[in-house]
Amino acid sequence: MRWCLLALLLVDFHYVHARSVPRSALSDEDAEPAADPKILILGGGVAGVIAARTFYEQGITNFVIVEARDELGGRLQSQTIGAPGKELLVEYGANWVQGTQASEGGPENPIWSLVKKHGLNTTSSDWFGSMTTYDENGPADYLDTFDKSTDVYNELTVVAGARVEQQLVDLTARSGYSLIGSKPMTPADKACEYYAFDWEYAQSPLESSWIASSWGNNFTYDPDQGGFGDTNAMSIDQRGFKHFIQAEAADFLQPEQFILNATVTNIAYSSDRVEVTLKDGTVLTADYALCTFSLGVLQNDDVVFQPALPDWKQEAIQSMVMATYTKIFLQFPEDFWFDTQMGLYADPVRGRYPVWQNMNLTGFFPGSGVIFVTVTGEFSQRIEALPDKQVQKEVLEVLQAMFPNATIPEPTTFFFHRWHSDPLFRGSYSNWPPSFFSEHHQNLRATVDERLWFAGEATSQKYFGFLHGAYYEGLDVANNLAQCVQGNGCAFIANVTEVTNAYPYVI
Ligand SMILES: Cc1cc2nc3c(=O)[nH]c(=O)nc-3n(C[C@H](O)[C@H](O)[C@H](O)COP(=O)(O)OP(=O)(O)OC[C@H]3O[C@@H](n4cnc5c(N)ncnc54)[C@H](O)[C@@H]3O)c2cc1C
Repeated sequence: MRWCLLALLLVDFHYVHARSVPRSALSDEDAEPAADPKILILGGGVAGVIAARTFYEQGITNFVIVEARDELGGRLQSQTIGAPGKELLVEYGANWVQGTQASEGGPENPIWSLVKKHGLNTTSSDWFGSMTTYDENGPADYLDTFDKSTDVYNELTVVAGARVEQQLVDLTARSGYSLIGSKPMTPADKACEYYAFDWEYAQSPLESSWIASSWGNNFTYDPDQGGFGDTNAMSIDQRGFKHFIQAEAADFLQPEQFILNATVTNIAYSSDRVEVTLKDGTVLTADYALCTFSLGVLQNDDVVFQPALPDWKQEAIQSMVMATYTKIFLQFPEDFWFDTQMGLYADPVRGRYPVWQNMNLTGFFPGSGVIFVTVTGEFSQRIEALPDKQVQKEVLEVLQAMFPNATIPEPTTFFFHRWHSDPLFRGSYSNWPPSFFSEHHQNLRATVDERLWFAGEATSQKYFGFLHGAYYEGLDVANNLAQCVQGNGCAFIANVTEVTNAYPYVI
């Protein structure tokens, strides 16, 4: 058990603060409520599709998903790579159901339920028991340090829980590590800490909230905290991981209920309607809009809101962080690397091409010759600014350092996606910084002018960053909005006008 009391103390803000408003108090006193209110669901990722399914299940059919890409699924993205005859579909977006189900009858990750329902082919990833370690001089056995770093990470989450219990202020996860006596010095220490922390949050301990990173972990992985369990199922389905959400959509969605290749450029809203303009000039009007665009899209003004979003909303949007997680895929004519699932490389520069995953194994894609390496945070942004050739050169230099006696051939494939630069995402997933308060987070998901609603992985207090966070937000926010649409009294998700310090600064 990672900590005991946090689950009890972490309140579900949206319900505590949601206020119930009778239908007549919506806005314009004279306006007649629409007979069949229309909802635009902006974005067709997991949150958007699950919101649509929620409306459908409640008998609400007057909705349209508006999606910029040519398919539904959002950050579930795959690509076929490889030399002729050795092609393979790889996931450069989400790939794992993180935390599936610990025991029969225990809480089950809803993504895992959908994966099973739609018969996806998955395999179990062993992130901690199948590891080979390297440094800049080749193979280097620091598995003891690796094992200890997992224990240290667990302690970090337990001590964070005690701070919540005592109502102590949040700190950086770096402060947390230092306070429990963990001060990585060597490249091996740093690589092990990176693996336990950055590889999950896509940012460093210095950039991350100690408390929120700990609950993010526990509510997903720790059954004692209501989490799903610590097993990670990796999709190896050649229809793509996205198949689970596309198949789910196909079960209920009618052709007139979604528009693809439709990029939103402008969202005009008032207290009684919403007007959405697309890149091609089309204007869509509705009674409500549910915006599921990524935090990165909202942060970067890719979509213009008219009027500009209120200050409390902008402060929340600009204060959560959109982190970046980048998988770099290589295919080689033959395998020259480790035969474990994972490889960890300790470079003198922390976070330089550290985590390697072997796809050339039984249970994955034997004979594929595919390996991939992950980088995160600032390092991801750095490589996005470089030409592919230069990144490839650096990656091959690292492989040569890891395998000094091997002749490293030219890869037959080299591929990575630039998530941070992608205007439809602007990063991979959100991370909670230490300066971000729970009230900020409440504001991230709060309704604006009672017509503009927000949902997505970033609006999930318990599961930000994860597919299941997007799922639960699509479900919860759509359930709230359905109340308004059905005219039964409307539980808007309320905001906090000013997020203040617990104590004013003494000047
Ligand atoms: C590299 C990577 C690895 C990840 N790994 C995992 C993992 O293994 N497990 C896990 O649980 N989670 C993982 N995640 C996170 C997970 O993918 C997300 O939490 C989840 O997919 C978010 O869903 P969403 O519906 O909130 O947002 P999105 O999926 O971003 O959906 C929003 C939709 O809005 C669309 N859109 C954006 N702008 C516009 C516009 N202007 N007009 C119209 N449409 C627009 C987008 O195209 C997108 O389809 C990963 C993410 C990435 C990028």
